[in-house]
Amino acid sequence: MKKNDKKPDEDLSARDHRVIGKELGLFSFSDTVGKGLPLWTPKGTVLRRELERFITDEEIRRGYSHVATPDIAKIDLYKKSGHYPYYKESMYAPIDIDGEEFMLRPMACPHHFELYLSEPRSYRDLPMRIAEFANMYRYELSGVLSGLVRVRGFCLSDAHIICANREQAESEVASVLDLIDYFSGIFGLRKSEDYWYRLSLGDRADSKKYYKDDAAWDAAEEVLRSVLQKRKEKFSEMKNEAAFYGPKIDVQMKDIRGLENTAFTVQYDFVMPKRFKLVYTDKDGMEKESVVIHRSSVGALERLIAFLIEKYNGAFPLWLSPVQMKVLPVGEKFLQYAEKVHKELVVNDIRSELDESNETLGKKVRSVKLEKVPYWIVVGEQEEKADSVTLESREGNKQSLSVADAVMLLKKQIAEKK
Ligand SMILES: [Zn+2]
Repeated sequence: MKKNDKKPDEDLSARDHRVIGKELGLFSFSDTVGKGLPLWTPKGTVLRRELERFITDEEIRRGYSHVATPDIAKIDLYKKSGHYPYYKESMYAPIDIDGEEFMLRPMACPHHFELYLSEPRSYRDLPMRIAEFANMYRYELSGVLSGLVRVRGFCLSDAHIICANREQAESEVASVLDLIDYFSGIFGLRKSEDYWYRLSLGDRADSKKYYKDDAAWDAAEEVLRSVLQKRKEKFSEMKNEAAFYGPKIDVQMKDIRGLENTAFTVQYDFVMPKRFKLVYTDKDGMEKESVVIHRSSVGALERLIAFLIEKYNGAFPLWLSPVQMKVLPVGEKFLQYAEKVHKELVVNDIRSELDESNETLGKKVRSVKLEKVPYWIVVGEQEEKADSVTLESREGNKQSLSVADAVMLLKKQIAEKK
């Protein structure tokens, strides 16, 4: 932990995502709905939608295919994958549908594998990068549930990359690390300072916890180690932290309290290709077994949002802000012009709100600041006459410009994700 990480306690509780989330009206919980199941308000849903759009678009640019698969499946699927005995404790009780047992899914991997199996595959199809913002459900003790960080239902930015062989897997793992670096950079995170890598290894002696195949474990661990070494990444190695089907690279982060967490992982899997018969026809016409990479680019949306709320202290950058702009008429007389400006912003996809209250301008500005809205526009006689607006920012900048220029300036900043 760095020396300036620890802030006084009151400061920390004021920055707690549960406190800010409530103040800004982003999400809530209801005992009638159930513990650990967040309800997202329209404002909170903007955060989810913007993140999902941004991440999906970037993944598609990098060769991922986004899919949609169901939140529940027959218990047979998790028995086939072998997850069932390992995950039994964190899965909810089966749901009986016409005499068959269904489970709320605790992970999406087996769903993606069944999709892979829906057609015969050739080496030309690989690597196949199957991605999904997947809802999943895991049992957590009610005592550990905490805001958006520990929940019972969450949405993971998940993907499974089916690779032809070890070499392809190695290059895919490197691309995943590039993607993680890119997303982390957008959120203002610095490698080594704010996040770092950990290579999590299996234990050859523990065949209860880890699939028994010593040679495959050796090879898989070497692939991940070699990717990290070739990239000259600083990383630590941790024994006995792997998944049951293979070793992984964990991306470790610390929250505002200085607590270290695994934010997301890149896993090498040599077990599922066997269990699901994830094969393809190679150049030579032979049927060969693939290698699977499980990865998350930003982890669960719930955790990411909790992290971002605390990092930005609720003052989100423009592109993420649930409300990007407030239009404040100086008085009732200027409401009509204010409405015209507001509509112009809305048709240009800027999330604008019009303050129609009878409050004084001072009060209106104070409430905009409390809501941490990045920009507001003041319109009065001068602006109406000149067909212009006075644009003010959370940072204290103030300028007079035409509505068209204001729209252009905001759209540019939104696109740049500043
Ligand atoms: Zn997976």
